[in-house]
Amino acid sequence: MNKKTLICKFWLACMTGGAMAAAAVARQLPVPAATAAATDKVIADLVAASRILADLNVMDGFGHVSARHPSHPDHFLMSRSKAPATVTAEDIVEHDQDGNGIDANGRGLFLERYIHSEIYRTRPDVMAIVHSHSPGVVPFSVSQTPLRPVYHNSAFLGAGVPVFEIRQTAGMSDMLIRNAQIGKALAAVLADKPVVLLRGHGDVVVGPSLPIVVFRAYYTEVNARLQQQAIALGPVTYLEPEEARIADKVNEQVVMRPWDLWKKKVGEKQPSP
Ligand SMILES: [Zn+2]
Repeated sequence: MNKKTLICKFWLACMTGGAMAAAAVARQLPVPAATAAATDKVIADLVAASRILADLNVMDGFGHVSARHPSHPDHFLMSRSKAPATVTAEDIVEHDQDGNGIDANGRGLFLERYIHSEIYRTRPDVMAIVHSHSPGVVPFSVSQTPLRPVYHNSAFLGAGVPVFEIRQTAGMSDMLIRNAQIGKALAAVLADKPVVLLRGHGDVVVGPSLPIVVFRAYYTEVNARLQQQAIALGPVTYLEPEEARIADKVNEQVVMRPWDLWKKKVGEKQPSP
């Protein structure tokens, strides 16, 4: 039995041709079947998350979602630079702690991958990250009105929503989080919160799983629109911090209900070419 045959006996992904298997083959490292299966599951959920966020109009041609690598926790998995609705498992690239694509093989990466690398570095509780130009939140990134929870689905906003002012780190710039220095400054402003707005740009949402981060990214957008409607009607009564804390526990318990629905809906659509 040669070396490659021996390794393949332990690789479920080697038999299925998964993207992680390809990366492991390239590195010639034996990967236990359970580890490869866990990685393939994260990749499948990452593809679903990308398509769901496009389907829900949180993302359009721009935006990206990542997940911490299940067996290399200082690394993360994210698509190559591509429109979110068109992402497939073959597009997922393993990034190291500095945002380098270790199995990119010449494929272009997102300019703003330092959002992900610097937040994973400073927030061990974070397992998934969404960056988007979610249109409803942009007015709150440029005005003096803070984004606050108007209803229970967006209770996670009760922790407070800081705004990142890129000029303090980068001076006059193209507004993008295009290097580790800016990414580190952004992670510091996010601190221990679930959401940070980027002035004149969009937002970054973090969470302990892909279903929860997708839920939060969607309801951040919905809350922004509802909050503007409520403000137009007059004085607003927001969720109290204690109400927000209690309500968010329930959200995390029921998150698989909308996740399964959203996943089914995108699964029924034809894969984009
Ligand atoms: Zn961006």
